[in-house]
Amino acid sequence: MAKYSSLYIHVPFCKTKCDYCAFYSYTNASNKDHDLFFKKLISDLLANKKKCSTLQSIFIGGGTPTLLPDKYMKRLFEVIKENFLLSENIEVTIEANPETLTDNKISFLGSLPINRISIGIQSFSKDHRQTIGRKSSVSNIKNKLTKLRKTGIKNINIDLIYGIPGQSIDDWKRDLKKASKLPIKHLSAYELTLEESSKLSKNKDLTIPDEKDITKMWKITNTFFYKGTKIKRYEISNYAKKGYECLHNCSFWEGATYLGLGPSAVSFDGKRRIKEPENFTEWLNNKKRQIEFVSKDKRTKELFMLNLRTTKGIDMKKFYAKTGINVLEKFKTQLTEFKDHNLLKLTNSHLVPTRKGLLLSDHIAKEIL
Ligand code: SF4
Repeated sequence: MAKYSSLYIHVPFCKTKCDYCAFYSYTNASNKDHDLFFKKLISDLLANKKKCSTLQSIFIGGGTPTLLPDKYMKRLFEVIKENFLLSENIEVTIEANPETLTDNKISFLGSLPINRISIGIQSFSKDHRQTIGRKSSVSNIKNKLTKLRKTGIKNINIDLIYGIPGQSIDDWKRDLKKASKLPIKHLSAYELTLEESSKLSKNKDLTIPDEKDITKMWKITNTFFYKGTKIKRYEISNYAKKGYECLHNCSFWEGATYLGLGPSAVSFDGKRRIKEPENFTEWLNNKKRQIEFVSKDKRTKELFMLNLRTTKGIDMKKFYAKTGINVLEKFKTQLTEFKDHNLLKLTNSHLVPTRKGLLLSDHIAKEIL
């Protein structure tokens, strides 16, 4: 088993539950809950320190990590610094919701050794935010981002969602236009998925935009957004200025190992996927973790699919080193077919999806494999 090279920490607390959310999150946490969470997290962190190599990236996600009281966040980074080897170019991201970014929180974040922030805006439209159950306002977000930049955190991502019930193509363009005026380096734009466990999926009165409009929204995101911002698509749902692609996600797509701590977090050591209990109380009580042994065949399929979702495509040399599979030889017939349909193209080193191919990448990967 390989040592972990990335760290993910799931902070499970949220102020309220958004209607579309299927992540594990815990509302109305008390001071005692925060304290219990922190103590268990630190104990798990220390228990795993020998299993980690030099960390290339740290991602504090959730939930809403910025709801965790500052004293715990500060101590968490001290413990990491005291106990782990960190790469010189480490990327350290924290997720935040706009309403938690008060002036005090912004200056506190600036004092932490983080160099990237990911902010869940989802939509600038009050109505659409209401539809998905985002209660807070984003009206002064530009001001907050400017303040974040002043603290030194210049690598800023925002998350947006398209395909919200009632959202038109023009509404989506308006969201993109507003986003393009913000001082950001990265955009994640996800299609809304109605997970069965979410409140939104139970509301039968809502109509989501049809498939044709959703495809159009995806297509215009790149062309519309690139103009002026120079932020362009590098993965099916991710866009960045050159050099600001999310290192944490890229290493995940390339098959790196990662340690995941906190309720519902997942670790991968090259052979096993280990999932922490989802429920906060079960996690605190060390209830059994789910362990899945990932077969070579399954891993090959996963890597093929994840890489085909990126605009860079599959680096065939690296793929061979990881899986022992020579893509050109093994999938010769299928590749010719997809090349003929202008869905894939070949360079000297990569198998690359065309724009049309990127949109159908999951389907193509399934067909090939
Ligand atoms: S979407 Fe984010 S902020 Fe909303 S409940 Fe889920 S984890 Fe919390």
